[in-house]
Amino acid sequence: MTRTPSPLEVHKFGGASLADPTAIRHAVAIIRDLPGPRVIVLSAMAGVTDLLLEVATRAQAGELVPALTAAATLRARHLAAARTLVAVGRERQELLAFINAQVDELESLARGLSILRELTPRTSDFLVARGERLSASLVAAALIAGGVKAAYVDAAGVVLTDAGFGNASPDLARTDAALRATLGALLKRGITPVLTGFIGTAPSREVTTLGRGGTDLTAALVGRALGASRICLWKDVPGLLTADPRVVPDARVLPQLNVREAAELAYYGAKVLHPRALVPILGRKIPVFVRPFGEPGASGTEVSERETGLDVPVKALSAAPGQALVTVEGNGMLGVPGVAARTFAALQHEGISVSLISQASSEHSICFCVPAGSAIRAQQCLRAAFSQEILHRDIDGVTIRDGVATVAVVGLGMAGTPGVAHRTFHALSQAGINVIAIAQGSSELNISAVVDEAQAGEAQRAIHAAFQLGKVGGGSVAPRDRLDLFLLGFGRIGRSLGELVAELPSHGTKVRIVGVADRSGVVFDPDGLSPHRLATIAREKAKGHSLRHMDGGRADTAEEAIRRTLRHALSHPVLVDVTADDTTAVVRAALTHGMDVVLANKKPLAGPAAEAEGLLSLAATHGRRLRYEATVGAGLPVMDTFAKLVETGDEVRSIEGCVSGTLGFLLSELERGQKFSRALQAAIDAGYSEPDPREDLSGADVARKALILGRLMGFQGEPAAVVTESLVPPAARSLPLKQYLGRLASFDSEWSERVRAAQSKGQVLRYIATVTPRRLRVGLSAVNLTSPFASLRGTDNQIVFTTARYREHPLVVRGPGAGPLVTAAGVLNDILAVARR
Ligand code: ADP
Ligand code: ASP
Ligand code: MG
Repeated sequence: MTRTPSPLEVHKFGGASLADPTAIRHAVAIIRDLPGPRVIVLSAMAGVTDLLLEVATRAQAGELVPALTAAATLRARHLAAARTLVAVGRERQELLAFINAQVDELESLARGLSILRELTPRTSDFLVARGERLSASLVAAALIAGGVKAAYVDAAGVVLTDAGFGNASPDLARTDAALRATLGALLKRGITPVLTGFIGTAPSREVTTLGRGGTDLTAALVGRALGASRICLWKDVPGLLTADPRVVPDARVLPQLNVREAAELAYYGAKVLHPRALVPILGRKIPVFVRPFGEPGASGTEVSERETGLDVPVKALSAAPGQALVTVEGNGMLGVPGVAARTFAALQHEGISVSLISQASSEHSICFCVPAGSAIRAQQCLRAAFSQEILHRDIDGVTIRDGVATVAVVGLGMAGTPGVAHRTFHALSQAGINVIAIAQGSSELNISAVVDEAQAGEAQRAIHAAFQLGKVGGGSVAPRDRLDLFLLGFGRIGRSLGELVAELPSHGTKVRIVGVADRSGVVFDPDGLSPHRLATIAREKAKGHSLRHMDGGRADTAEEAIRRTLRHALSHPVLVDVTADDTTAVVRAALTHGMDVVLANKKPLAGPAAEAEGLLSLAATHGRRLRYEATVGAGLPVMDTFAKLVETGDEVRSIEGCVSGTLGFLLSELERGQKFSRALQAAIDAGYSEPDPREDLSGADVARKALILGRLMGFQGEPAAVVTESLVPPAARSLPLKQYLGRLASFDSEWSERVRAAQSKGQVLRYIATVTPRRLRVGLSAVNLTSPFASLRGTDNQIVFTTARYREHPLVVRGPGAGPLVTAAGVLNDILAVARR
């Protein structure tokens, strides 16, 4: 049959576009402004389908009270919207009665389920279908109230499906006819049909649903049946993007996409379209426009037969989480005919859909992905299908690997471009992501990788960056130049850093703190922790509360927290370690998973040589930055100076330094005649010392700094090779901290004596690190008053570089070298340097 092209348009509004009465008014305004005939297709109001499913599962679990509470919420929401949108009168009365009847029925269903405790897909569909029925009747009434001739149409009866409850497939030919008859009659009379999306009818006349997001599919069915001139899908995103913006922050709007490309993205998990939404209109020349509900003037994305941008190999990517990889394996498979065919026939017979297939060329194994929920069924049906082969050991067995995701890279242009697979997998390996399986469709429109589900986000970000999809012309969604900090440790330095970040000028680099972690737990918020929230966390912590018990808190370890954090769409994530703990494992995890790292903590780089080198080379191989200026001399430019000397071809021969703010403070207080116990307590109170001041007094802290400096200069040794003079008497070394602090006064006279002895020779005591590429020594020295170290006061540090060029007059860096604020400033400097990369 040939029909003259009609200017008819189909407009679908998703749940997010029907969130509340204001949104519905906006939808009504969009519809009213449409010039020609149109069919409106509607999802349930935002969150309603989830709430209905909750009623069902709660009731089935026997939890009637929460089920009825959810039902009451639904009733209140719809009644309130009806009263806001429709004026008093007969229309409103009818609408209120309809809403009440739907929710009354829901409540009795819930009661029944709570007794029977059995929820079939059939019952579930009957129950959730009312979400669309409620919203469509509401919008139809609002349109009528707004002066539009409109009529509510229930899709049950006109969208005819199979009996696949929960994920039914439409019978295209019969649906075409039914939709044409019903909608055609209304359109002829100048009435705008307002159709429920998502639902249909099984041959048994029972209501079915088309699977989550099914309203997109309903819109396509209507467009196909009526030969519409276009289908508009109004959504809460600016269009179809190069990737899911919740996962890839620099995703960009695609102005146009070929229908095969879009179908591939939808099928491989892009949540923006139902997986089969475009199937009914393939080859029909009906363009689909994904349009931003919040900005009706914007053009969004055109999905059509046009083939554009064939010069770029990749247009977009998508991911499907919650998959399982099933492998049929065996040495004897070579000799078994038709293994692949039999495998997929068995799965088809079970009604299990397979999303990705990969066969090793050796033919020893076939593997494929199925939704995790179908994995066991797939395994059972294959074990049955190959029972003979398994018995004869031709096939070893059928195994399942759970918790994987498929990531699909899509673009028509890849057919003519060599090296797309290489670029994809190179990007993944650079990001340290293990690829479990790969597949390339015969259409050469898609390359897919199976990765660990926890790494799916990073995988997408890595591929997105590798193909420079952030540069697509259609505009971005999220700011790209922001740093998202994850703070490890939230003591004095962490809190000072929080304050410095809050005071950064608004025109410079944008920096947010998205997470803080310590031994008591983690608080993470992908939208950022406001200064107010950080202050609250600090206050609660001071009261002794654990992070895990705070608003948004979890009991994760730092490593778990890093992994969880990276599942979110962060813009340039940076791990900032301001602890004094052994955090090497966490730093490794951060570098491997795509974070840059800034350390104020000395331990990761001052432990065993292999560990420190391991971190530096890990950063290098992953292309990540690892900065640690604040580990020596707090905010003073020590590493920077070293780097600049080396960069300009100078050779650093030795570094000598007073690099302990605590010891500097202590010694200059003693010089002034202060008692040791008083001076040390003052250093603790001011936050100069390490949490246990014996870390400073024993020389351990200075030895770590010496080691970090030594390793810069090529020192190869282990920590034990640093010759270290301890200022803690042997008997006091193993005391519990509290007892040690209780005995400080007993060391007073010995210290006074030492200081006096030096002074009598015209000398002062300084704790000095001496560093060369071969030898590291830290200890107490009595220096003459003419020494540059003699004039140091308080917590000031001094680092002296003797180099090939600065030999006679060494280069001196001097200034405040301890305290939370200057250390935080040093850390912030590194953070901003990371941003400038
Ligand atoms: P609707 O309201 O029409 O049902 P959805 O919520 O189903 O809309 O689809 C929009 C969501 O899809 C967005 O919130 C976005 O996070 C997600 N999404 C995933 N992939 C993409 C993509 N490539 N482009 C746009 N949005 C995407
Ligand atoms: N309301 C259904 C869902 O949430 C269908 C849809 O929104 O398209 O999945
Ligand atoms: Mg949807």
